[in-house]
This record gives sequence, structure tokens and C-alpha cells, in this order.
Amino acid sequence: PVTTRDVRDLVEAYARVVADNRDYLVELDAAIGDADHGANLDRGMQAAVATLPDPDSATPSDVLRGVATALISKVGGAAGPLYGTAFLRASTAVKDRPELTAEDVVAAIRAGLDGVVARGKAEPGDKTMVDAWEAAARAAERALASGAPLSQILAAAADAAEEGMRATIPLVARKGRASYLGERSAGHQDPGATSTALLFRAMADQAA
Ligand code: ADP
Ligand code: MG
Ligand code: MG
Repeated sequence: PVTTRDVRDLVEAYARVVADNRDYLVELDAAIGDADHGANLDRGMQAAVATLPDPDSATPSDVLRGVATALISKVGGAAGPLYGTAFLRASTAVKDRPELTAEDVVAAIRAGLDGVVARGKAEPGDKTMVDAWEAAARAAERALASGAPLSQILAAAADAAEEGMRATIPLVARKGRASYLGERSAGHQDPGATSTALLFRAMADQAA
């Protein structure tokens, strides 16, 4: 099962990945946005790490809620509230569980996607982080239904998120700043879909 410490470790691992990819995410956002996605997410994840609760007295849900609070309060721009809502819904989905089963993890992923969609109203194909989230959630649910262990569920989710990320390249953006560019947004990979793919890869790497 997934413990509070595991969830804490994931938050730290994702914060490191975001820091390592900060410039890359900024470059992607420079092409179709305002060149701040890497900086926004890096600031938010540093704040999340700084406020992580004591794993001996906190639940996985507490850790996820803390990340949500940090992202919502520290990150201006679209992605902070969107990821914040995702972590908040994930936290609620696993409330009161001292440890998480594979079912719990998949339910948290689905809840995270539903949060992003509720907040941002984007549909798959709009060239946003939803393209990566949706692919990941579907792949995770399919793997869970087939009886795969958590490591395989998360590997499938990460592969699907990366596919969803790459599939944003030819799309014309219909939500967020990139949509202001219209047809000129085509030919560029969406920054938020990229940071989402990094999140699912961090989860898969941790469970491997
Ligand atoms: P901002 O666009 O405010 O500068 P960021 O650069 O941090 O915020 O995040 C941009 C990313 O947010 C986009 O690449 C896209 O994936 C995501 N995004 C923007 N608007 C939406 C939305 N309505 N629904 C889902 N994702 C969105
Ligand atoms: Mg931006
Ligand atoms: Mg901005």
C-alpha cells in the first residue's frame, strides 16, 4: 500500500523534477503563452515542499491537501489553481484512508482530472493539461480493471500522459492563453500537458 511517507516522497520528487525542467517548461510557454509556466510551478512546488506535514501524524489526504493549498495560494496564473484543484479533489477522494490501495490511487487520479475539468472547463483536444490528465486517468482505470499491480497501473498512466502530451503538438488551442494565438498555436507542445506528463512519470518512477 501507499503510505503517507510515500506521498510525501512523491511531492518532493515532483518538486525536483519541476525544478530540473523549469527552463524547459518556460521555453514551451514562451512559444504559445507568457513564458512563466516553469517558474509558476517551481514556486508552487517549493512552497508545497516547505509546508509538508509530519508523516507520522498526517494521512496521505493531508499531504495532498497541503499541496493544493500551497499551489492555490502561491501560484498566480492558470496552472496553479488548476493543479491546486486537482490535488484538492484527490485529497477528498482518499479522505480518512491511512494508506492507499491501487483502487484509491486510481480514484484519486480520476478525481484530480475531474477537478481540472470542473475548474477550467477544457475538453480533451483543447490543447491543455486535460489532454495528458484524461489519457492518464483512462489508462490507469483500464490497467486497474485488468488486475494489474500499482506499478504497472502507474507505468501505463505515465506512458498515456506522454502520448497525450505529444498529441497536443498539432492541435489548435481552445482554452488558456495559447488560444489567443488561434491557428498559430499549432505546432507547439502544450506546457501544462508537459508538466502533467512529468507528474505521472514521477509517480510511475516512484512505484517502479
Ligand atoms: P498562465 O497561462 O496563466 O500563464 P501557466 O503558464 O502556469 O498559466 O499555465 C499554462 C497551462 O495551463 C497551459 O499550458 C494549459 O495546459 C493550462 N491551462 C490553461 N487554461 C486551461 C484550462 N481552462 N483548462 C485546463 N488547462 C488549462
Ligand atoms: Mg504562462
Ligand atoms: Mg502567466
